[in-house]
Amino acid sequence: MRSPLQMRGCSLQCGVRQGREQGEKHFRGAEVFTMLEELRQEVWKANIALPKNRLVTATSGNASARDRETGFIVIKPSGYDFDKLRREHLNVIDLNGKVIEGDLVPSVDTATHLYVYRHRSDINGIIHTHSPYATSFAVLGQTLPLCLTTLAMEFGTQIPVSDFAEIGGIEIGKQIVEKIGSCPAILMRNHGVFTVGTTVNAALKAAIMLEEAAQTCHYAMLRGRVEELPHDVIDSAFKFYSEKYGQKGEHK
Ligand SMILES: [Zn+2]
Repeated sequence: MRSPLQMRGCSLQCGVRQGREQGEKHFRGAEVFTMLEELRQEVWKANIALPKNRLVTATSGNASARDRETGFIVIKPSGYDFDKLRREHLNVIDLNGKVIEGDLVPSVDTATHLYVYRHRSDINGIIHTHSPYATSFAVLGQTLPLCLTTLAMEFGTQIPVSDFAEIGGIEIGKQIVEKIGSCPAILMRNHGVFTVGTTVNAALKAAIMLEEAAQTCHYAMLRGRVEELPHDVIDSAFKFYSEKYGQKGEHK
């Protein structure tokens, strides 16, 4: 089975560097950073990219990432304004949800993120949004037609749609693990979008591209009958993108 996540593998170096910083304190002017400084920066940037890319409104949505060396997760605090969010506000938790560092309450979607991390060792970044075009497909229980080369290149397979799952526990995580397969995105029935990646940046990119594609599909479907690309075109577009796109050593 194709595995976009494995093909877009992140170097281990960043995780090793972050791991060495565990327990150390870093002082920069008045700011104090403690654990996983680089990963905090990545997760903070991914979180504030969500409203910038119109993937979330108010305080909904969240981004998290796993440090490969310690196994700790950095995640957004619950109900926190993105424009007030700073790196030191992020929570560091273990795979069982124990808060290792942070004064704020972690995201209400923490159980979902942790379930996925516990069951998929290849996933090290997760994004959750209610981005409206993609979510409109999730409301109807429809996947996007594979009618765009960008969908073929980024996802290479149909985006799965989950069953309805209650929020707050592990039910959403179970649906993700059961249905996402090698796809970096899943449409959560009557809820929103979860995207995953070997890094949080990869998950962010999938979330942005999914919403753009969903918007395009939505408009196209209003105006006519949409036909999917042939399977061989999808396969070759995905292969080309996986092997040739971007600069050497760059995470896609
Ligand atoms: Zn949600």
